[in-house]
Amino acid sequence: MKIYYENDADLNLLQGKKVAVIGYGSQGHAHALNLHDSGVDVVVGLYPNSKSWEKAKESGLTVKTNAQAAAEADLIMMLVPDLVQPNVFEEDVLPNLQKGNVLAFSHGFNIHYSQIEPPDSVDIIMIAPKGPGHLVRRQYTEGRGVPCLIAIQQDATGQAKEFALAYAQGIGGTKAGVIETTFREETETDLFGEQAVLCGGVMELMRAGFETLVDAGYKQEVAYFECLHEMKLIVDLIYEGGMAGMYYSVSDTAEFGGLTRGPRVVNEESRMAMQEILAEIQTGTFATEWVLENQAKSPRFKALRRELAETEMEAVGAQLRSMMSWIKK
Ligand code: NAD
Ligand code: MG
Repeated sequence: MKIYYENDADLNLLQGKKVAVIGYGSQGHAHALNLHDSGVDVVVGLYPNSKSWEKAKESGLTVKTNAQAAAEADLIMMLVPDLVQPNVFEEDVLPNLQKGNVLAFSHGFNIHYSQIEPPDSVDIIMIAPKGPGHLVRRQYTEGRGVPCLIAIQQDATGQAKEFALAYAQGIGGTKAGVIETTFREETETDLFGEQAVLCGGVMELMRAGFETLVDAGYKQEVAYFECLHEMKLIVDLIYEGGMAGMYYSVSDTAEFGGLTRGPRVVNEESRMAMQEILAEIQTGTFATEWVLENQAKSPRFKALRRELAETEMEAVGAQLRSMMSWIKK
């Protein structure tokens, strides 16, 4: 697999051009400041009463309304929340798009699922740092970078990939390494990872483990420590050394018990469920459900949040965290 570094990118491509960063949240502030410090002419786009307006100005950036920033810019990076993007695109960006402009994203959802449909006359690219905004900014100020994914959905200028690489260089990405993907791959794997593993499978696994112990008569506090609290220790070990590194650090008893029992918990049935979840992502079934849920003002989403907040598990967790002085309130 090809990994792009500093020598594969040419930041000069952005010289004499203006980049609009629309939104100044987690990713927006990092992209805008890094590009600015890389010598790129940046304008931040915000809605008129945004609280971020003063913050961006105090950091030395030019701030204009979304529409004005989009009108002035050659490259427009959309960094407002994904659910807000279609509206901002239609009202502020589309009327100000010119032939040969470059429209950029950090996540593929809106393009892949046709929530945003730009004209044929512009490039559609993605530059997605694989880390939160504060890390993208901090690594840059320390002379390093966060690895990025890039993707090209539409190449109207014939230079879409060069623009994506130049932008990645401007935010520090080529210092760490840049990998090319597609809007489809980035979107579908991102959704699958969060649903089946990170924010779905793992969460339900911890909850089921906690409830199994409590139902068997063990103390809630002890069950919480064993099934939820200690997850951080394990994840930190995997982050640093992979699964082998984690198994090296835990006891042989934990390693043997885990290797033999794990596949009984996440079994053939679980893998079939994963395949169904992936198919719902690939067919757009999940995207439709999520878009409609929001249009309906999220009744199911709010009910699910409420239900979780009312569990004994969450109450016990809050009580235990209050005993841990090192955890920020
Ligand atoms: P965020 O929620 O941190 O920031 C959103 C910004 O948009 C804020 O400045 C907010 O004031 C502004 N905003 C909110 N509503 C608005 C409106 N109606 N009109 C104009 N501006 C509005 O968002 P984020 O996490 O930086 O995400 C931006 C994009 O980056 C998304 O596409 C996301 O998928 C992607 N992304 C995020 C991360 C991450 O770690 N947060 C990582 C990779 C990609
Ligand atoms: Mg993700």
